Amino acid sequence: MEMKATAFTKQGEVGVLQYQDIAIPTLDTDEILVKVQSCAVNYLDIHARRDRPEIKQKLEETNEPHILGSDIAGEIADISGTHPHLTIGQRALLAPCIPCGVCSDCISGYENLCDAQQLLGFQTDGGYAEYVKAPAKNAIPIADTLSYPEASALPIAYLTAWHMLITRAQLRAGEDILILGAGGSVGSAGLQIAKLVGARIFATASTNEKLVRAIEHGADFTINYADVDFSETILEETNGRGVDVVLEHVGTATWEKSIESLAKNGRLVSCGVTTGNIGEINIRKMYQKQLTIMGSALGTTAELRTLVRLAEQGKLVPIIDRTLPLDQASEAHQLLESRKNFGKVCLIP
Ligand SMILES: [Zn+2]
Repeated sequence: MEMKATAFTKQGEVGVLQYQDIAIPTLDTDEILVKVQSCAVNYLDIHARRDRPEIKQKLEETNEPHILGSDIAGEIADISGTHPHLTIGQRALLAPCIPCGVCSDCISGYENLCDAQQLLGFQTDGGYAEYVKAPAKNAIPIADTLSYPEASALPIAYLTAWHMLITRAQLRAGEDILILGAGGSVGSAGLQIAKLVGARIFATASTNEKLVRAIEHGADFTINYADVDFSETILEETNGRGVDVVLEHVGTATWEKSIESLAKNGRLVSCGVTTGNIGEINIRKMYQKQLTIMGSALGTTAELRTLVRLAEQGKLVPIIDRTLPLDQASEAHQLLESRKNFGKVCLIP
């Protein structure tokens, strides 16, 4: 049995993505087959397509096309093994991580730190297809009130932002937060989560159009970082105090200004380095202001279940830039590469 999928056999530019017929995955024990209804696109997909070594290794070892896609929502089409809480035809979201479940990180509740974890659509075939298989334990049932594109928007972007702001930085009502790149996936998710918490939000973006969207989604104050020094603006607008939390995912280009923007007892939380890995820090200022610099890596399935509940209740409405048919995956990649989207781009098989 075959299905349609967008996949590639060689890494490279967007032209390597081919809409093609591929065999429907066969299930091993305790796996489910999901009929994909929506798969959200992440920047990680672009890195995977271009040059990530894990993908190169998988292509060489299997000699099969690789199917991207980590953010998957759909209908359970088949179940292997005994899983009484799951039924065929059930609507579900797939948790994107496949942790080992037995290492000390996993059993301590830090499955996001598991060294042996795999990511759907990365070390395994993903959701740029009509069908995908996953461990049965990755299925999170979703209510009819949550659309498939909205559900598929949650895993990578919203889970990353939730773990950063709620679990790591412990953002509280009444605090000030600076969100860098508020138009991107994690930035726009962070914007909504910070709004839900009741923080005052300073958001940066590179175009005025994106800043208008940021205000629509809850930003209290916006800064076009192409025009002004954002840390100077932050200090001006907070009477020299700075912000309590910075959501950082840019890396080298913004690192020092992000730290400059922090108030006393401020927390900088970082999940990415799109402009480079290395940044300097003034250690004296750091200890005198009692700053905390923290890392954050995706999140846990329990956190994702919380996000699903919030989305089902309508308290969090994931921002969808647009949906595209699966055969237009290359267009979706180009949108993300040119940073023209605000929120998630979802592929519909
Ligand atoms: Zn583990």
